[in-house]
Amino acid sequence: MIRAMQDRVPQLVTTIAGLREAVAAARRAGQRIGLVPTMGALHEGHLSLVRAAKRECPCAVVSIYVNPSQFGPKEDLAAYPRTLDADLAALSACRPDWVFAPSNQEMYGRDHATWVEVGSVAQPLEGVFRPGHFRGVTTVVLKLLNLVQPDAAYFGQKDFQQACVVGRMVADLNVPVTIRVGPTVREPDGLAMSSRNRYLSPAARQRAVVLWKSLQLARRLVEQGERRAETILAGMRELVATAEDVQIDYVALADPQTLQPVEAVSRPTLAALAVRIEGTRLIDNCLLEP
Ligand code: AMP
Repeated sequence: MIRAMQDRVPQLVTTIAGLREAVAAARRAGQRIGLVPTMGALHEGHLSLVRAAKRECPCAVVSIYVNPSQFGPKEDLAAYPRTLDADLAALSACRPDWVFAPSNQEMYGRDHATWVEVGSVAQPLEGVFRPGHFRGVTTVVLKLLNLVQPDAAYFGQKDFQQACVVGRMVADLNVPVTIRVGPTVREPDGLAMSSRNRYLSPAARQRAVVLWKSLQLARRLVEQGERRAETILAGMRELVATAEDVQIDYVALADPQTLQPVEAVSRPTLAALAVRIEGTRLIDNCLLEP
């Protein structure tokens, strides 16, 4: 009861002018500002990042924006869940200071013609299967960083490559912000929380745990002394193939800095995979530490 009384729906701003005004007041007060960019349909994974931002920054801003430029022409932009009222209610317990939920018109206007494109780390893995995706992500994230000018911005390990790409962008373009990466929050059976999980039928939801199982298998093999990437990848692929109607986009072992494939797990290595289950594309990853 007491908790409920303390919870307060966060203040919503939908315009760039309103957002700038809100953060300017915090900046004048000398407050550290944290930004958590999201596309909404919030779950515990997002909320963990908001809590981290709030722990470290007296002023926390959450953006909720389904960014059209990061969706390919055949992807799920139209179907992507938009649940602003539920998101605001979910956020009330984490007490961010501001929620920025702009329209497309507000974010891109009519004449938008500038794009931010990261090379290297944006090219493998998701870069192969979602051409143009990271260009949309980096463009919108740089816009949000310029609007809020946060001291720290919070991303989830769930989208490991995205965090790498954003890290590369802020380093290369000298953006004065610290990128913080929070751990992947999972359902009790291990499935990484994702806004896209709600697309899954009950049967597909059950099969989706195969991503986590294949990452656990990789961990187990490494613990048992296996180092050959080829062998570990074969085991992961075989395990994924045991689930009905699951198509693999990729299963990869990569250097966690460069994201280039490795031949042996001789140092900390990223295990990552992307699969499609009944048309829903899911990704997951973990670090293997030999
Ligand atoms: P999205 O709304 O999917 O664009 O995600 C917004 C942010 O939340 C990104 O930095 C994601 O990596 C992060 N995120 C999404 N799912 C999870 C999760 N299960 N655990 C931790 N962070 C997550």
